[in-house]
Amino acid sequence: MTASSSVLALLPQGKIHVGGVWREPGDGRSQVVINPATAQPIGRIGLATPADVDAAVAAARAQFETGEWSRLSGADKGRLLWKLADLIEQDRATLAHLEALDIGRPYFEPFAIEVPLAADTFRHFAGWADKLEGSTFALPSFMGRDRFSYTLRLPLGVVGIITPWNAPTMIAAWKLATALAAGNTVVIKPAEDASFSTMRLVQLIEQAGFPPGTVNLVTGEGEVAGEAIVNHPDVDKVSFTGSTAVGRKVASQASAALKKVTLELGGKSPQILRRDAPLDVAVEGAAISLFANQGQTCASGSRVLVHREILDEVTERLVEKARSVVVGDPFAPETQMGSLVNARQLDRVLAYVDGAQAEGATVLTGGQRVERPGFFVEPTLVMGHNRLTLAREEVFGPVGLLVPFDDDDEAISLANDTDYGLTSVLWTRDVSAVNRFARALRAGSTWVNAWGPPHPALPWLGIRSSGLGEELGRQGLLSNTVEKVVSVVSAP
Ligand code: NAD
Repeated sequence: MTASSSVLALLPQGKIHVGGVWREPGDGRSQVVINPATAQPIGRIGLATPADVDAAVAAARAQFETGEWSRLSGADKGRLLWKLADLIEQDRATLAHLEALDIGRPYFEPFAIEVPLAADTFRHFAGWADKLEGSTFALPSFMGRDRFSYTLRLPLGVVGIITPWNAPTMIAAWKLATALAAGNTVVIKPAEDASFSTMRLVQLIEQAGFPPGTVNLVTGEGEVAGEAIVNHPDVDKVSFTGSTAVGRKVASQASAALKKVTLELGGKSPQILRRDAPLDVAVEGAAISLFANQGQTCASGSRVLVHREILDEVTERLVEKARSVVVGDPFAPETQMGSLVNARQLDRVLAYVDGAQAEGATVLTGGQRVERPGFFVEPTLVMGHNRLTLAREEVFGPVGLLVPFDDDDEAISLANDTDYGLTSVLWTRDVSAVNRFARALRAGSTWVNAWGPPHPALPWLGIRSSGLGEELGRQGLLSNTVEKVVSVVSAP
C-alpha cells in the first residue's frame, strides 16, 4: 500500500476546480482536514464563497449551452464516461486510501466495494448516453391540417450535486454518472469532512478528457457553498444526499425556486429475522449492516426485528459477532471497523446509547468509546422496543437495536412504525412470506436474504422522510432530463 503522504501529495490542496482551472477560493479561506483515526491534521480544503459558486455555475452553463460538451454526440459522451471508469479502476488504491484517511473507515471497504461500484456506475450509464429516446404520437388533424407530435428527451442544464461524507466516492459517482450521461453539466460540492476523494475524482475527470467546465468542484461549507448552489437561479436541478434535516431545508429552498430536486436522506431501516431465517447468513448479514463503515451507512438495518422463538439464539450469535469485530487502524489488514468521522459523531453515538439505557433498554455489548487517539466506539447492541428514541432516530453509528416480535403481522407493523422508508431486509426461506412482506414494507427497497446489494441498474430511493425521487436505474437517469413536446402542423 502506498504511503499516505504520497497519496495526499497528488491533491491540489485548498483549491477548487472552476472552468477547468484549479485555483484558491475567492477570499483564500481554507479549512484543516483531520484524519479521524488519529485526530491529526492531514491537509486542507478550500472554502468556496458564493462568488466561487457563481463562477462554477457560469462555467457549467457555458459548457452546456455552447461548449464542446454541448456538441458531443451521446456516443462520444458515453466514450468519456467509459474512459473515466477505466481511470477509476486504475486509481482504485488511491481513491480508497483517500476515503480511509478522510473518514477513518477501513481501507478495504472502498477498495473492495465502493470504488469498483463507482467504476461500474460510470460504465453502466456510459451505455445509456446514446439511448435517450422520446415518443411519437399519432394525433387527429389540427384545424384541418395534418399534425404530428413527438417528444425529445433533453438534459436539464446545470445540475448541482451535494454529497455527504459517509461514502463520498460512490455517491459522487452515482450522481455524476446519471447527470453526465443525460448530457448535463455539473457543479459538485462534497461534504466538509470528506472532500479528498471527490477532488481526486475530478482530477480523473480532467484526465479522461471531459471538456473544461463540464464538471466543476466547489469544496466548503454547506451553509455557504451548498446553499449558494441550491439557491442559484441558473442551477436547473439539485441532487442532494445527506441528512433529513438539511434535506428538508434544501427541498423548501429548491421548491421556492421551482427547481427540480432529488433527495436521498436518512434511514432507520428494519431487518426482519423470521422464525425460518437462514441464521448463518442472517446473523453475518445483520452484523455487516450494523458495523460496516462504523454503522455510518444510510441503509444500515439498525432495527433488528427478531421472532421471539429465535431471539435467544440470534442475540447470542450477534453479540458474539459484535465482540469479535476488530476495531483499529483503518489501514491494518485485520481491521473490520475504524473510527467515526469526527468528535461530534462520537458524542452523538454515545449519547444515544446512554439515552436508550435511561429509557429502560439493556446494552448487550459495547456502548463505550475505544481508548485510543481518534474517535473510535465499540460495536454496540441494545435490547429494547420500538418506542425508544434509539428506535425512532437515525444514530449513524455502530449501534443495533434488537426488538422481538411474535408473528408476521407484528413484524410488518413494527417495521413500518417509523418516519423513514429507505431500505428493509427480510431473512426467510418462505417465498410466500417474501411476496407478502415485499408489498407491505414501506421502504424504497426490500432486500431478501442479503444486505445491500446495490447495482447501477436498480433504482435507489427513499420514501417518507428518507427522500424524494430516484437515483440510479432508468428512473434515476431520466430524473436528470426533461421530456419536451414538439407538435408539427403542416403548413397550408
Ligand atoms: P448533512 O445533511 O449534514 O450534509 C450533507 C451535505 O449537505 C454536505 O455536503 C453539507 O456540507 C451540505 N449542507 C449542509 N447544510 C447545507 C445547506 N443548508 N444547504 C445546502 N447544503 C448543505 O449530512 P452528512 O452528515 O454529511 O451525511 C449523513 C447523512 O446522509 C445521514 O443522514 C445519512 O443517512 C444520509 N445519507 C443518505 C444516503 C441515501 O442514499 N439515502 C446515502 C448516504 C448518506
